[in-house]
Amino acid sequence: MPTLAQLTKRRVPFEEFLTARGAQIMQPTNEWEVLRFKSTKGVSIVYRNSKDGLTFTGESADAWNAFAGNHAWRGAPATKRPKSVEGHVRALLARDGEHCFYCFKATTEENRTVEHLVARAHGGPNHLSNMVLAHRKCNSNAGHMSAMEKIRLRENNGSSL
Ligand SMILES: [Zn+2]
Repeated sequence: MPTLAQLTKRRVPFEEFLTARGAQIMQPTNEWEVLRFKSTKGVSIVYRNSKDGLTFTGESADAWNAFAGNHAWRGAPATKRPKSVEGHVRALLARDGEHCFYCFKATTEENRTVEHLVARAHGGPNHLSNMVLAHRKCNSNAGHMSAMEKIRLRENNGSSL
């Protein structure tokens, strides 16, 4: 657990971490409260004592550990995927079926992702003509490939079936 000085130093990014995950930063109600926030599990408070030690209550210790160790933490239920992604998935299922572009095996609602053949970062359009369905794992394996390399990967996988 951090000392008061360490927490104070990283307070702004920590508050941003909390807010980005759905927690709500609240005003401290007395001088011993260093940080107060509200999540779906209720109010969590970090207190300091007269010797500048810290006491973490509620979810504050979990949240700090996640923040400091780069782990997942959520103060509110994950927001639903944007509607446009759902729409693309539906259109791709209708066009290509449920198999993965790379490995040809069936995808499920849990593991399917929309893959942009020309990466968005390389100017690929956010349009169905540039999209295929792929397993999350297959998608990330092809992460840094060019569109040509991706298609070659698919062909190699296909010919070994
Ligand atoms: Zn796959």
